[in-house]
Amino acid sequence: MTREVIRQHLPLFDEEGRSAATEDDIGRDRHYLPDFPEEDPYAAGHRTCAGCGPAIQYRWVLKAAGGDTVLAGPTGCMYVANSTYLCTPYTVPWAHTPIASGGSFTSGMAAGYEAMFRKGRHPGPYPNIIVMAGDGSAADIGLGSISGALYRNHDALFICYDNECYANTGIQTSPTTPYAGMTTFTPFGKAIPEAKKLPPKNLAKMMAEGHPHCYVATTTVGYPTDLMNKTRKGLNLQGAAFLHCYTPCQKGWVYQTSMTVELGRRVVEAGLFPVWEYDPEERRYHYFHPPVQRPVTDYLAMQGRFGHMLPEHVATTQRAANRNWEDIGMDVPAELREAEDPEPASTAVISSDTCLTAARCCTTCSPSGRGRPARDSRCSRRPTPCGWPTGRWPGAASRSSR
Ligand code: SF4
Ligand code: MG
Repeated sequence: MTREVIRQHLPLFDEEGRSAATEDDIGRDRHYLPDFPEEDPYAAGHRTCAGCGPAIQYRWVLKAAGGDTVLAGPTGCMYVANSTYLCTPYTVPWAHTPIASGGSFTSGMAAGYEAMFRKGRHPGPYPNIIVMAGDGSAADIGLGSISGALYRNHDALFICYDNECYANTGIQTSPTTPYAGMTTFTPFGKAIPEAKKLPPKNLAKMMAEGHPHCYVATTTVGYPTDLMNKTRKGLNLQGAAFLHCYTPCQKGWVYQTSMTVELGRRVVEAGLFPVWEYDPEERRYHYFHPPVQRPVTDYLAMQGRFGHMLPEHVATTQRAANRNWEDIGMDVPAELREAEDPEPASTAVISSDTCLTAARCCTTCSPSGRGRPARDSRCSRRPTPCGWPTGRWPGAASRSSR
């Protein structure tokens, strides 16, 4: 006899609630934390770097999903750092898959559970089936298998934790590495002063446009309630869902470890990572309009991977951000329009009082001054903390000072 599959329904967290009482000094609900579940299926004891964005994402996704979950993880940082020496931090079933096979493995899991239910061989409700793949897997090597799983509409949640590089193999470029992002495969130099020339692949839009029957959304670790609610929406939906999550990588991006969540907000406020969800029933996008719009320099200046940028590269990035603002239906303020011109950008002032990169400055590569990340692999000096006070975007230095 064929039996019906029993499905779970996870209630959404209140996204408004206490936010008004916990605004920060520029009106953001930074300190708003609803009553998150005590349950922690991603327990302490893993070996990711301090401030690791993907680890934060993993914890929140699994808190949102709860204990009745099965998890797959293709090769990537969150496989390597989380499963060394046969130890894992998961309190739920977890399986590693080859980097190309996250989608096909998860398809098999979903189909297997459905079959077991129908044959009466598994009690209880259908579990939350989640695969969390890095950008190297989801946007590059394993893109085909995830696209296939979405296309066939397997009942599972496919998440890309996007740290914009191949981090676990030594910070190589991936398709989501942003324009001008320095990696070991995209160093800056005389021939290519901007480091990476190509813009990032628009993975989430590709997934939404290519699989219009699926729930697709973007989010960042700067918005925990949004991240957890989108996780639950994706799991509640009967069918395939895809979540693209921006997750900073301290090691690859070179920033202060305490700034991971702040970066998750600034990338949105700088217009470089629009947050939205695509509703497959209505077949339309719902865009989040952040209350703050910043120049891209407020975001770039926090990270050593952008420390080599010249004014024209900053201006190119601002143009891309302004196009994003238009795409999500927001006006572009006049000062952000002006910043599309490289000359005014050369005097752009960042809003922080001190250098926010990871204090890896040295004077070897920039004899005329401090505040530059150590960036030359042939450099024999060890980077030293400098604590350099800065009011100016280091990358906006003129060519003559290089
Ligand atoms: Fe996390 Fe980056 Fe460290 Fe990997 S290299 S564990 S993604 S901070
Ligand atoms: Mg990655």
